[in-house]
Amino acid sequence: MAVAVWFRRDLRLADNQTIARANELARQSGEAGVMGVFLFDATLVRSLAQTARFRRLVGAVRALDDQLQGSLNVLFGDPVARLAAFVREHEVTTLLYSSDISPFANARDRRVDEALSALGVQVMRVDHPTLLPPGSIRTDEGQPYRVFTPYFRRWRLGVRTVRPVASHLMPFGPGIKDPLPWDLADQGIRVEGELSALAQWQSFRKSALSRYAARRDLPALQGTSRLSWALHLGVLHPRTLLADLSETDEVFLSELCWRDFYAEVLMRNPTSTTEPLDRRFRWMVWDEGPRADDRFEAWKAGMTGYPIVDAGMRQLREEHWMHNRVRMITASFLVKDLHIHWARGAAYFMEMLEDGDVASNTHGWQWVAGSGTDASPYFRIFNPIRQGERFDPDGDYVRRYVPELSDRIGKAAHQLNVESAGDLFGATSGRALGEYPHPIVDHAQERAESLRRFDLMKREALRAEQ
Ligand code: FAD
Repeated sequence: MAVAVWFRRDLRLADNQTIARANELARQSGEAGVMGVFLFDATLVRSLAQTARFRRLVGAVRALDDQLQGSLNVLFGDPVARLAAFVREHEVTTLLYSSDISPFANARDRRVDEALSALGVQVMRVDHPTLLPPGSIRTDEGQPYRVFTPYFRRWRLGVRTVRPVASHLMPFGPGIKDPLPWDLADQGIRVEGELSALAQWQSFRKSALSRYAARRDLPALQGTSRLSWALHLGVLHPRTLLADLSETDEVFLSELCWRDFYAEVLMRNPTSTTEPLDRRFRWMVWDEGPRADDRFEAWKAGMTGYPIVDAGMRQLREEHWMHNRVRMITASFLVKDLHIHWARGAAYFMEMLEDGDVASNTHGWQWVAGSGTDASPYFRIFNPIRQGERFDPDGDYVRRYVPELSDRIGKAAHQLNVESAGDLFGATSGRALGEYPHPIVDHAQERAESLRRFDLMKREALRAEQ
């Protein structure tokens, strides 16, 4: 007879409803403690092994095991088969876990629920990774919201009563450790979990939260929390952050609401990871083939010749994180200047980002592409030079990531490397080694091309409907 918690995207001990409930059940049945389990899905590991978010995951699981004094059971294999073997071996009668959002996780959980229930195990879903359970915010007519602002108004009322949960897992060990096909030291994995994330939050709260609204759009500054990796893995729950916010932290609160909003949008539209929410965009013409591939490579390498775009893409490669303003600029450049499908950019972000999150990433991209719910209107096309001048006025951000431009101060940091008409456009091959590239496209021309394709798309969609 044993009660076990299956940790997934809730790799923490504090503020964890699943643990609190498991403790209660264990106490009622006279158990000495609760078993903690984490399972590395062998199939997922194969496809994720090279990604930054996987390294974060491995580091956070190890940190959780350290907090539990080595009592975490770390399993490796097929979720259904391995968990079934585990519950049999340890006579687990109740398994509790926190629900997830992604279509992949939901399909896996259904299979696990069925298999374990068939073995007579009681399976309970308790907590959720968002502030309010996805699906709980509805219009007066009982419909889901499509637009953020009214969703935020109602959500704000709902979160007033949300409080952190007192929880602490009683170690119950020692935990078993399946052999894992990687080595922490080999991959330079940092063992960072709940305790480091809490310290990071306290430091941000003291030094930057009060200036968040004024500085959050300036990528050269440390103006945001950089806690997206921790929120994604559930190393911190947003409830813990919420408890520290005051009336004046409205803008930060609204960012936590965007996270909930996108989780809900994904849950309601599981195919939206590849399909546009605005169905008219099925008629959009995207570029493919060798020229598009070359441009995609230039974008990934931070070699487009547009300084703020290149700085962002290089920050992503170096730090596996990119500032939100620059995520919008680089994504817009791919979609509206290079005419490459947003899903291709979204997949690259998922490969590189330490905070790669299917809901926020997919719908961040769909927002930029104009095909999402409550998306940026398609015709509003970011000008990468104006964006750079406005949000990086001294050029500090560009100089930090693009050493070729280290002697450019202020607005000059955002100018294109164009000395004569012959330098236009895409003439990267004639470049001397270490020289900043000429721009691969002409923004004004591509902007007009984007608008032309948008009109064409609307006409085609209308014709298809008739
Ligand atoms: P802060 O400004 O400190 O915000 C606090 C928290 O609020 C964040 O950690 C995050 O959890 C949440 N948040 C903030 N902004 C947003 C937003 N616009 N949408 C949803 N949640 C938000 N965020 C991810 O967590 N994972 C992703 O894969 C991801 N991909 C994105 C792709 C694109 C194209 C765009 C435009 C945005 C994406 N975002 C993603 C949202 C946002 O860029 C990051 O959450 C933010 O930059 C993380 O930095 P931070 O922790 O310092 O944020």
